[in-house]
Amino acid sequence: MGRVALVTGGTRGIGEAICTMLKDEGYTVVANYAGNDEKAQAFSAATGIPVYKFDVGNLPACEEAIAKIEEEVGPIEVLVNNAGITRDGTMHKMSYEQWYDVVRTNLGSCFYVTRCLINGMRDRGFGRIVNIGSINGQAGQYGQVNYAAAKSGIHGFTKALAQECAGKGITVNAIAPGYVATDMVKAVPEHVLEKIVAKIPVGRLGEAEDIARGVLFLVADEAGFVTGSTLSINGGQHMY
Ligand code: NAP
Repeated sequence: MGRVALVTGGTRGIGEAICTMLKDEGYTVVANYAGNDEKAQAFSAATGIPVYKFDVGNLPACEEAIAKIEEEVGPIEVLVNNAGITRDGTMHKMSYEQWYDVVRTNLGSCFYVTRCLINGMRDRGFGRIVNIGSINGQAGQYGQVNYAAAKSGIHGFTKALAQECAGKGITVNAIAPGYVATDMVKAVPEHVLEKIVAKIPVGRLGEAEDIARGVLFLVADEAGFVTGSTLSINGGQHMY
């Protein structure tokens, strides 16, 4: 049985591609989701990957669910903090809920889920953690003060945790995807999307698999020397 990998938000979009690729590589994969039962059940039926419904933005919910997963499937050695949401709006119109929901779901979740797993990884002397940030956390984005702040926070979280874990066989890295053709991006109006694609040097949106391939590289046993890094996968849209 391969190493157990938990992918948060693993039932749709980028997470779905990560789950499928990890499974094909021999990992024992577990996917989490928030509320779309229909999609989660269809995903599970198609892939054979078990799904667990809990809110990654809620610490007690994470503690309860992760204890159950580890009891049913085994110790989690690979964690992909992928779940994320957008609640766009300019600052002068943004509600507290828009701010808080995005920060707790995208950034809070990295603390909550990782906190549940970090001691087990330290005790076993092995772990692979990949946090999914965003090009918009690197470059900022109009109408996304909440999302850009949360994603930017993920990059700091990654570097600090990487330093704490380096001596324990645990690597912590981030991926900053550019615009990827998932439900999240399909919500962007067509005319805005056209302008975005025009700014992507490779001339297309990313595919979920483009991001999953990066995850596969970072979680490999052989990638033990790669830690604290951010891998930008964005078609050349933002280079620095
Ligand atoms: P997506 O298609 O909207 O899928 C989001 C997934 O996260 C779903 O499985 C969803 O579950 C789950 N989720 C949302 N809130 C959750 C919560 N509170 N608890 C547990 N699960 C939750 O998103 P995506 O486009 O694949 O994005 C995946 C990640 O990549 C996100 O972190 C996103 O910010 C980041 N990203 C995406 C893009 C892009 O262009 N798509 C670019 C840069 C970064 P349900 O199905 O139950 O709702």
